[in-house]
Amino acid sequence: MTDGTSPYPPLAYPALHASHSGIWICGSDGVSRAIGKGEAIGCVAETPHILLNAPLMGQRLGYPDLSGLDLLELFAFIHPAQFVVPTPAGLAKTLGLEPPAQEADIASLYREAASHLLAGLEAPHWGEREGAWSSAQALYRLRWPWAGEVSKRLTKPADGERWLFSKLEEWEEETPRPAPRAVTMDEDATLTQLGTLTGKGSEEREGQKSYAAAVAKIFNPRRVKGAPNMLLAEAGTGIGKTLGYLAPASLWSAEAGGAVWISTFTKALQRQLDRETRRIYPDEEVFRKKVVVRKGRENYLCLLNLEDALQGGFAGRAAILAHLVARWAAYSKDGDMVGGDLPGWLTTLFRRNGSTALTDRRGECVYAGCPHYRKCFIEKAARASQQADIVIANHALVMVNAARGREQQNAPTRLIFDEGHHLFDAADSMFAARLSGQEAIEIRRWVIGPESKNRGRRRGLAARLADLASYDDEGGRAIESARHAGEALPSDGWLQRLSESEPFGPVEALLGEVRHMVFARDESQSADAGYGLETELTDVEGPMIDAVANAAEAIDALLKPLVRLGQRIEHLIEEGPDWMDAPARARMEGALSSLGWRCDTLSGWLALLSRIGGPADPEFVDWLMIDRFEGREYDIGICRHWLDPTIPVTEVVTKPAHGLMITSATLKGGGDWETARARSGAIHLDQAVQEFEVPSPFNYAEQAKVIIVTDVKRGDMAGLAGAYAQLIEASGGGTLGLFTAIRRLRTVYARIADRMAQSGLPIYAQHVDPIDTGTLVDIFRDDPKASLLGTDALRDGVDVPGRSLRLVVMESVPWPRPDILHKARRLAGGGSAYDDRIIRARLAQAFGRIIRRADDHGHFVILSSAFPSRLLTTFPEGTPIERMPLTQALTEIKAAKSKTVQSSLSPDISFGHDAGQTDIPGNKSGGI
Ligand code: SF4
Repeated sequence: MTDGTSPYPPLAYPALHASHSGIWICGSDGVSRAIGKGEAIGCVAETPHILLNAPLMGQRLGYPDLSGLDLLELFAFIHPAQFVVPTPAGLAKTLGLEPPAQEADIASLYREAASHLLAGLEAPHWGEREGAWSSAQALYRLRWPWAGEVSKRLTKPADGERWLFSKLEEWEEETPRPAPRAVTMDEDATLTQLGTLTGKGSEEREGQKSYAAAVAKIFNPRRVKGAPNMLLAEAGTGIGKTLGYLAPASLWSAEAGGAVWISTFTKALQRQLDRETRRIYPDEEVFRKKVVVRKGRENYLCLLNLEDALQGGFAGRAAILAHLVARWAAYSKDGDMVGGDLPGWLTTLFRRNGSTALTDRRGECVYAGCPHYRKCFIEKAARASQQADIVIANHALVMVNAARGREQQNAPTRLIFDEGHHLFDAADSMFAARLSGQEAIEIRRWVIGPESKNRGRRRGLAARLADLASYDDEGGRAIESARHAGEALPSDGWLQRLSESEPFGPVEALLGEVRHMVFARDESQSADAGYGLETELTDVEGPMIDAVANAAEAIDALLKPLVRLGQRIEHLIEEGPDWMDAPARARMEGALSSLGWRCDTLSGWLALLSRIGGPADPEFVDWLMIDRFEGREYDIGICRHWLDPTIPVTEVVTKPAHGLMITSATLKGGGDWETARARSGAIHLDQAVQEFEVPSPFNYAEQAKVIIVTDVKRGDMAGLAGAYAQLIEASGGGTLGLFTAIRRLRTVYARIADRMAQSGLPIYAQHVDPIDTGTLVDIFRDDPKASLLGTDALRDGVDVPGRSLRLVVMESVPWPRPDILHKARRLAGGGSAYDDRIIRARLAQAFGRIIRRADDHGHFVILSSAFPSRLLTTFPEGTPIERMPLTQALTEIKAAKSKTVQSSLSPDISFGHDAGQTDIPGNKSGGI
């Protein structure tokens, strides 16, 4: 690699690489040397250096402002919408270069990779040439560090280049789909379809077949309105769950002419489904019509926001990001910025500078009033799903559409909730109400528009509905009243004013009382630690009651004109004046929908306030909170959650459905069916639901072992960090470290990162490294020597089959946090039995990370001697469990490591489905 045989001429720029084990620089003469921190910082401040992932390297150097010629930015420009693991080895692999043998070679690799990438610009077969020249010109003006090198290798196209917005495909309006036919599912046909999907010669799995047959029944005609054919199914890891339900779903869809919605919790499963559904429709064109991935609108690029950013709405680094995003948008499959084909690392390179302003986060879409409406990615996905056979969505989107009555004509009637153990939590956040400063300021901005010159295109109601106001006087007056009433909501600087006891307006005054009361009543010891605070909403006194009354009056004064405005829009749509063509009508409908959402929020706030000082509503849990992190306050407000959030889910999602399945590898949460029924909402249905269970085919007795380490003392951070370091070393990396508190994760990471780097075992950490979680998992998956530390999101969102994950270490028993909401649910749910159900579910999910396919082996270590024996039944039957001191655990893990290395030399046996079977060569699956 560095022997001078590279066909590409080296660049004049030096390169820099920094890690926990050292810093290296490679000069323009191609010679690499190790240097110290001070010298490195001096060098990069003087001359731009080629580097990889500037924020991460800046953190390793202790120089957070580090900038330079970042190879990842160059990669994003040259290969938009393509995936690369953002590590030296990952980049080398993608570019076909020899991976670095040692860290000292990496700086030199950076120079070679830069030459290689730049040479690609001159290659005649470069597939992403269109738009590059114009983009490079714009980036040159913005002083993008690579712009000079890129521009000199690009020639101006003779015929000019099409502007992004003119080359994107338009969506077509299609006739609404007729209602599906009533079809009774045939078991033989289902199994034949399953055989087709799993492929000729694949191993027949009885568990998968019986699962598919059970799922097929949910598609039979419903007998009673409000009583769907409902199935709860726990299917152990490795039975081939995805193809098990895709077989009957695709068969029903083909015969009945209807759509099946498959809802997931993690993006990893969405991506897996996107790949697996290709088996049903191998023809690419058919596939694109039949399968659509749907996400919440805040995930997609808003073309109008992008246009605004490209035309001067963004400055500096944010503007550079906008141009790289525009390069990607021209080649993206669906415009999904979060977990789609935009590399997860791209926005973190810009420290999230401006990326959220490129999506439609605040519902400011102007629908048909937007010049890009017919090319809009969000509209395209919504329309495509009306004609699709399989819609891959997520729990939040399914619930939000159902709760807000969106897309009624396209409402799902056949639903499969995979990762169903998350349904409860998804419903908990979806149906919660929160009257807080942050929420209120968002509504104010939506009504009035931005207060200062914020980034991006943001306009108030008056500007968005100007045509309505000019046509309809009453509508115009409602907009004006709403604008006036909106001024009573918190505005910029509200947190500062509250900390100085100088609130402005009735809602800020209420939040000031909330803040005062929370500080006065807090007994959690968190006040000094600088973390979130909360207190029950009870025994409220005079000043608070007055503040509540004033705030309620102000909110009501805003709600009334908004409701009136909604009525005027409805009237207008019914009346259909001459000027209202189809796009204008669509825009009014869009405005009505976002208005409805705001009115629901304001009504929820009023309901919440009306209960203060009166009797508590037993269906809800209400409390006051201050969101803080490391002493800094972020939000203050009043929260309301359903005691049981599956009640609204049952009403708006389950009962209207005809067929519905909730499935997961851990649906019973390591417990019993009672848990599954309670957490899925099945207990709220009048009729009984079907239950089905098939255990994992894996041989846990041979493949896994649970070790409870007995001699790491609770609260001994040095001991905990030492245990992690030794365990990672014993296993040679491949370790997923799970924590229940970010603080402890950070402390352990800080203590062991250097030691691990010196042992040649890279370690990454959520909440520490400036890398998004999905990319962290990609890095971890790609390097069997890497280890990853993280919290909840990694506990069950990680699918890493093979040697890259062979050890899971939990710092302690994952007790639930005893916050107000938990205490209320615990009281209602049977006290300690409720806690046990939560812990069992968490343990089952964490344990489920280790064995993903038939040839996986691994250990599950809990560093807590206080592990209660009653919870040992959580683990799959036959799994060996042993309590032992750390030294013995280390010996076992070391021995297992040498055994695994031996056996990994034998051919790879893919058991299929949840892991290996699904991977399409060359198509790297992303993280969570
Ligand atoms: S239609 Fe709405 S979301 Fe789509 S590009 Fe236009 S403003 Fe953005």
